[in-house]
Amino acid sequence: MINLSSMPKAELHLHLEGAPRWASVREAHQRHYGAELPELPPWYAPNFRFTHFGEFQSLFQRYIHPWLQTPLGYAEIIHDVVDSLVEQNIRYAEINVAASLVERHGASLEQVWEILETEIKRAIAQGCVIRIFVGLMRNHGVEEAIAWVRKTRLIAIVSGFDLQGDEVGWPANKFKPAFDLAREAGKRIKVHAGEMTGPESIRIAVEELEIHQIGHGTSAIHDPEVMALLRDRQVTVEMCPTSNERLGYISSYSAHPIFALDAAGIAVTVNSDDPTFFGYTLTDELSRLIKERQASLVDLKRWTRNAFSQAILDEPTRRRFIAELENWSL
Ligand SMILES: [Zn+2]
Repeated sequence: MINLSSMPKAELHLHLEGAPRWASVREAHQRHYGAELPELPPWYAPNFRFTHFGEFQSLFQRYIHPWLQTPLGYAEIIHDVVDSLVEQNIRYAEINVAASLVERHGASLEQVWEILETEIKRAIAQGCVIRIFVGLMRNHGVEEAIAWVRKTRLIAIVSGFDLQGDEVGWPANKFKPAFDLAREAGKRIKVHAGEMTGPESIRIAVEELEIHQIGHGTSAIHDPEVMALLRDRQVTVEMCPTSNERLGYISSYSAHPIFALDAAGIAVTVNSDDPTFFGYTLTDELSRLIKERQASLVDLKRWTRNAFSQAILDEPTRRRFIAELENWSL
């Protein structure tokens, strides 16, 4: 595999709870619970596919939630995720935090914001800018989403909100009152759409809610009008090829539509989503695109530039990151 570790990178779609390194999960389970976890989990096998979304979710309950319930769980996980970003030369990352889980794990929200603040500073000192997005669960309902926005929209380190969860039963337009509140406070909104269901979910988010950043967007490929909408409105699409493959939302890695969207003039980006459970960090995903989809370094640079262009950065920093990327070579 080509070693892309020195390439300056950006990741827009990363869930905190799905991002610690497996070696760290193992070490934590050994230390806290005396449990011996395998060196390589079964779901890292190349042909592994989750049979349904619930099977994937159950891994969080089994491996991440017990860790989060230990006294320093959040601190340990956040520290590990920052180390992983820095190690990969990720210059900019948007991290989705499932804030609604914090108190359920017996941790305090204030404490988690404090840890994040400290870790964001530690990351900056090592050349990595981190922005926090509070994950809003569609299936927890509109009222709960509104409550979470009210509760967190004035927190300085919260850059925005990211709608996720059951796309089928909970179309994004139901959440307009929550998004309006967030926008009033100057926060950014993004939406997971077109992952589990068809292009209509993307159209609703972009047309009715004026969303400029879509998570996954995989099913756009099935509707030329939605493709045109994404291009014309200059929507950035956070694509997660291995995640879509492992969860069975695409028929195979080679069928992932990243190249088709790119060729249609849509601003696509590459992301790892939940590397703990899909087995591919951003660096691995980029290498996989070279190996299995014959992506060129020019492609990878263009997709990374798309991410820097959408990033929440002051203009001098944005220019610096893009210049560093343009000047980078293997
Ligand atoms: Zn996601």
